[in-house]
Amino acid sequence: METLFTQALGLAAPWRVVNVDFQQAAGRIVFTVENTAKRLTCPACGAADQPIHDRLSRRWQHLHFFQYRAIIGANVPRVGCRECEKTTQVGVPWARAGAGFTETLEAFVIALCMQMPVDAVAQLLGVSDDRIWRVLDFHVNAARAREDYAEVRRISADERSARKGQRFLTLFCDLDARRLLFATQGRTAATFKAFAEDLAAHGGDAEAITDVSLDLGAAYQAGTREHCPNAKVSFDPFHVVALANAALDQVRRAEVKQVGDLKHIRWGTLKDAANWTRAQIDQMHWLQRTNLQTARAWRLKQALRDVFARGGMIEQAEALLDGWIRWARRCRLTPFKRLAATIKKHRDGILEHFRSGLSNGFAEGINGRIQAAKARARGYGTDRHLIAISYLICAKLGFGEQWNGKPG
Ligand SMILES: [Zn+2]
Repeated sequence: METLFTQALGLAAPWRVVNVDFQQAAGRIVFTVENTAKRLTCPACGAADQPIHDRLSRRWQHLHFFQYRAIIGANVPRVGCRECEKTTQVGVPWARAGAGFTETLEAFVIALCMQMPVDAVAQLLGVSDDRIWRVLDFHVNAARAREDYAEVRRISADERSARKGQRFLTLFCDLDARRLLFATQGRTAATFKAFAEDLAAHGGDAEAITDVSLDLGAAYQAGTREHCPNAKVSFDPFHVVALANAALDQVRRAEVKQVGDLKHIRWGTLKDAANWTRAQIDQMHWLQRTNLQTARAWRLKQALRDVFARGGMIEQAEALLDGWIRWARRCRLTPFKRLAATIKKHRDGILEHFRSGLSNGFAEGINGRIQAAKARARGYGTDRHLIAISYLICAKLGFGEQWNGKPG
């Protein structure tokens, strides 16, 4: 039976299973593994045929055998090397140095964490959350270290609230390879410096970036100018329209005091007409027959939305946008006059979208997946954990090669 388990664990001489202890009440199976060699190669200097100094007892958790926790126990030899005079513990073929899980179990943990909350994975394997996080941190970092960003040319930068209204992360996405490149705390111009350094550490070059898609915030624009000097900025249409929605809502809230019916119309004015409910259709038809400021504000918002919805060539978009700016400047609605000034100031970058075709839509999609992962885990304790999960599920990291050909 020991031979059978030696094969099941993928072990080869001088390692073999010498005892299998099935502890049914404790719900576990303990495999005792031995290294039968009398002399070994020194792991520190590579000198062959060195004596064994002593053996230290160590344990690893392995994949469950059905419902039973599987533990591998071994007295691992330390080589007392005559050449380099160091005492060095030899590696074991089933786990990386310092790990408490076998490599097979670590691969399984990674696969589970892509689909399940970390606390659920910890519960399933009967270990603490901390141990799962350590495995994730190690392998996410190792996999990211192998990533090559030399070809990155077109990116988006997007701010995300990490926890409600308190802390912010910035997500940098590769819009060609459709992957998360870099996630970090903060949302300032300095955030771009961290990005440029991370890019360089992966063989990329921030100066080689040709296009950056942004919201209209000043910090990211400053960061782009400084660290991606050769990039054209495209402003994300969703963020531009969001500013019009905010202006519309300001107008409506001011007018609610005179016209109480406007209180209930908010979602109708913000939503796409295609998604209106029966009641919202009636409300919006009523609004459009009035001379209310909110009705004018809604038409302005729709017109701006249409500039993007129609798409088309940059020349057409330019004419539509300039027409919109003229209308908004003389509309006598303060929030829209202000918005007209903002849009005029960012006009080139807004129009650049029609040339580059870029948006932050991919980042929005990524954010949806991260939010879903957050919801499953009822919020990750720290930004660092949230960032690790973001890389795990959105960075298209290669975890495959390191497991290949390794027994365990
Ligand atoms: Zn040595």
